[in-house]
Amino acid sequence: MLIRGTTRLLGLLGNPLSHSYSPAMHNSAIEKLGLDLVYLPLKVETRGVEACLKAIRELEFLGVNVTIPHKLAVIPFLDEVSELSRIIGGVNTIVCKNGKLSGTTTDLEGFLAGFREAGHSFDGKTVVILGNGGTARTLAFTLLLMAKPSRVIVAARDVSKSKALAHEVHEKIHQTLEVLDLAEYSKHAGEFEVIVNATPVGMFPNAGQSPLQSDWLRKDQIIYDLIYNPEETRLLQDARKQGCQTVGGLAMLVHQGIASFKLWTGVDPDPAFFYEGIRNQQKLQKALV
Ligand code: NAP
Repeated sequence: MLIRGTTRLLGLLGNPLSHSYSPAMHNSAIEKLGLDLVYLPLKVETRGVEACLKAIRELEFLGVNVTIPHKLAVIPFLDEVSELSRIIGGVNTIVCKNGKLSGTTTDLEGFLAGFREAGHSFDGKTVVILGNGGTARTLAFTLLLMAKPSRVIVAARDVSKSKALAHEVHEKIHQTLEVLDLAEYSKHAGEFEVIVNATPVGMFPNAGQSPLQSDWLRKDQIIYDLIYNPEETRLLQDARKQGCQTVGGLAMLVHQGIASFKLWTGVDPDPAFFYEGIRNQQKLQKALV
């Protein structure tokens, strides 16, 4: 990659960033497409978010991604925020144009496109989301606003938190989000056609764990695990053994990145460029161990 005096800047605002595949994904696409851009990690503490956004404006960045823990913290310092980000309550992409910072989210598009890429659709299906954290919240709104599932259920440990989310969904978009206590999951296991894991259970370094018992899985179910490290989680291994169809979390990551890239550059990159960046980083990490 040749960085010149004309090279425009992109980046990722968050903390920590050492685990992130985003710089590798975006720089791979930039290189393949021969664009005069570079994507940088911008590790910043919450107290530094305002100053960082000021610098991004001054340095005429083309745009940045925003990740944990700053998806909400950036909002007060933006010139505009999309309706979608306001409803869902988070920004993962900022576009900088003519000194103006506009925030939106591409997590929804990533989630839907990742599932579509694997050949599946949520239309007419009963979908259960495991967990009720930040991602589960985005997915609940996404499914109800942008897909046509027959039912959406959130199954988590803290029922009062799930009920508050269901209430908010009803207030904001007048739709029904059903609530299930995760402890009662096994009684309803047969009702679900798509199971989405939005908990960190099974994520590195706890790769042996699964949020569900394997005998609760049925062969006609589709299991979408958003964890991408490891790529094949315990849940996905169990699901495959039961004959279920499975989708891993890398697809969502790649497609939210592609959607951001399109907003910044107007170019629709081949997903293969993004996957290649990730594979190169994985090889490098293995070689360094
Ligand atoms: P979060 O806000 O911390 O929420 C985590 C949720 O998981 C909470 O509902 C939490 O419930 C639940 N949980 C944690 N440990 C649990 C356990 N042992 N048993 C049952 N439930 C448990 O996290 P998040 O930002 O939503 O992220 C969730 C997952 O999605 C992470 O694994 C992340 O890597 C993945 N993700 C992937 C992508 C992608 O692009 N593929 C994008 C975003 C997120 P309690 O409140 O009861 O602890």
